[in-house]
Amino acid sequence: MKRRLVLLGPPGSGKGTQGELLAASLGVPVISTGGLFRDQMSRGTPLGIEAKSYMTQGQLVPDRVTNDMVRDRLSQADAADGCVLDGYPRNVAQVGVLDQILAERTWRIDAAVELRLPEDLIVERLLRRAVLESRPDDTEPVIRERLAVYHRQTEPIAQIYQTRGLLVTIDGDGLVEEITRRISQALRAEA
Ligand code: ADP
Repeated sequence: MKRRLVLLGPPGSGKGTQGELLAASLGVPVISTGGLFRDQMSRGTPLGIEAKSYMTQGQLVPDRVTNDMVRDRLSQADAADGCVLDGYPRNVAQVGVLDQILAERTWRIDAAVELRLPEDLIVERLLRRAVLESRPDDTEPVIRERLAVYHRQTEPIAQIYQTRGLLVTIDGDGLVEEITRRISQALRAEA
């Protein structure tokens, strides 16, 4: 069974929601870099303070910070049997670092699930979430910047996993349960 997954997709594509559901069904933890940063921010740690200045501008937190955080998280006992990575890797350099971290443990990624969604729907979803969750990076200019960063830095990653034969592309438009079903079906078909 596939137990080590990478979730790809633009902000607002439902990675967080689907990541939680997928991880629960597999019995593995979700490792969300955005979530880990927000946790550090709310606790006011030095890492959180540094991350905040990038996040509120829609920029990626520097790789040295992010990679160390992920390496650390993956070394915890609950990640030994698998995990769903949400928000990592987010640029080509991070793919290389993840490969290294996994190789050190003789682990590998079993599939990369990419959620696709038209841009106008994404902006609509994020603006709605802004009202509900009041995330500091859910304002329209920052949303636009996050999308630009996604296209420039994160989208090329899908190609890498595609070349490795690991990419599963899912239509992210629809009801939550419907999308969950699409993901499990696609992963089963791959097995
Ligand atoms: P979204 O996918 O909606 O943008 P996330 O919670 O995944 O939300 O990420 C929020 C912010 O956290 C990003 O805009 C970025 O600043 C930071 N971040 C998350 N993951 C990474 C990463 N792998 N590398 C660098 N920065 C990251």
